[in-house]
Amino acid sequence: MTETKRPPSMTPRAIARREAIAKARSEGKCLDCSAETTFGKNDEYYMVHDRLWLRANPQGHGKLCIGCLEKRIGRTLRPRDFKDCPLNTSFFGKSDRLVSRLTGLTEDLVRQLKAVRARSTARAAAIKLLSD
Ligand SMILES: [Zn+2]
Repeated sequence: MTETKRPPSMTPRAIARREAIAKARSEGKCLDCSAETTFGKNDEYYMVHDRLWLRANPQGHGKLCIGCLEKRIGRTLRPRDFKDCPLNTSFFGKSDRLVSRLTGLTEDLVRQLKAVRARSTARAAAIKLLSD
């Protein structure tokens, strides 16, 4: 008998979705260090200007984390290296390092600002709870 057991939740559509996620995960890996750039809590998913990108990565396709891109170009990224697009203006879920490069703030200041935001969110939730 070759019948395999599978959980009832694994429909062909669920299997296809799982495979698509695995493919996206592998395509999102940094070409140099294999860190995931587009999944997780500290994304480094961004767009720099084409000239800079092609200088760092002449083949054009693939992804690089901030550290490996900086290693390839031999310097730290600056806000003007990034394209003016929605991907680069939404900071939610992005790594401190990427937000630092996008804004020109130090990573330490980015961490402090995130902590302030987390505290004010918690405070707002507590105030809502107490006023209900
Ligand atoms: Zn890398």
